Amino acid sequence: MNEQLRLLRKLQQVNDKIREFEDEKAALGAALGKRRKDIRDHQRHIDELAQKVLEAKKKEDQYNLNLKANEADINKLLVQLTQAKTNEGYAGLNKRIEEEQKQNSALEDSILQLMTDIEEMERRNAAAKKALDAEQEEFSRFEAKVKADQDAIDGRIREYQDRAAEIEKSVEGEILDKYHRLYERKDGHALAGLDRSAGVCLGCNLPVTKQDINLLLADNGIIFCKSCGRILYIPEDEEE
Ligand SMILES: [Zn+2]
Repeated sequence: MNEQLRLLRKLQQVNDKIREFEDEKAALGAALGKRRKDIRDHQRHIDELAQKVLEAKKKEDQYNLNLKANEADINKLLVQLTQAKTNEGYAGLNKRIEEEQKQNSALEDSILQLMTDIEEMERRNAAAKKALDAEQEEFSRFEAKVKADQDAIDGRIREYQDRAAEIEKSVEGEILDKYHRLYERKDGHALAGLDRSAGVCLGCNLPVTKQDINLLLADNGIIFCKSCGRILYIPEDEEE
């Protein structure tokens, strides 16, 4: 393999490695983001439940006020009952008292139900808060570890970037420009191996001309795939 092609092969390998590191770093970041979102969701759930408790308590207060107002009403009606002058008046008052008593009985049931609901919600929320505290503590440890891992990866990336820069110094300017353009255009794969037995480019799986294969075998400069434009090379185990 000619020296320029050999350098490009090395450069591609170093760039692949940098990509791998960057992917690894991104995956760690994504895992951290996912956990952060989980915590936010759990916190929101707790807030919503607390809001429901507040609303239930407000309702309970209102029902208690209604109950007291009805009781005062009933007491007034009871006094009026003792002063009723006619049977009709007496029956009318009695009916109103019965209605208010029925209302109060329903209110008492509702209040009891609310108290049970509130107790259950508060119990659930206390458990959720406890779980969230533990989750947050665990998250802090995880976050610290991810940050440390990412810093270590950054160190490796810088190391490989230096290696790439070192290799690039020896690559001819025009060839390097083409490599960089291909790298951008072909999503990080500027080079493609040649499948000699099938006579196809492994980058696009399309045939490479006999002439180009011969040039490649003769190690005659940089040969580009006429279909995908990548720089062709003969994989090491097939090289003569
Ligand atoms: Zn190709």
